[in-house]
Amino acid sequence: MTDKKHPEETDTVSCEVCLKEVPASEARIEEASDYVRHFCGMECYNKWRHLAEKDSDPVP
Ligand SMILES: [Zn+2]
Repeated sequence: MTDKKHPEETDTVSCEVCLKEVPASEARIEEASDYVRHFCGMECYNKWRHLAEKDSDPVP
């Protein structure tokens, strides 16, 4: 027996940089020790990497 409550629902994530929602399957994922960041593409990923290098501890 199948019980699909939301057959149209797509698993989306928010880009860490521009906050745009993108499908999880298309998102660029960066796994930290206990936190996963998502990016809409390499452009935002590179942007975040650049910022992260300048400020090594952006999140408490
Ligand atoms: Zn983005």
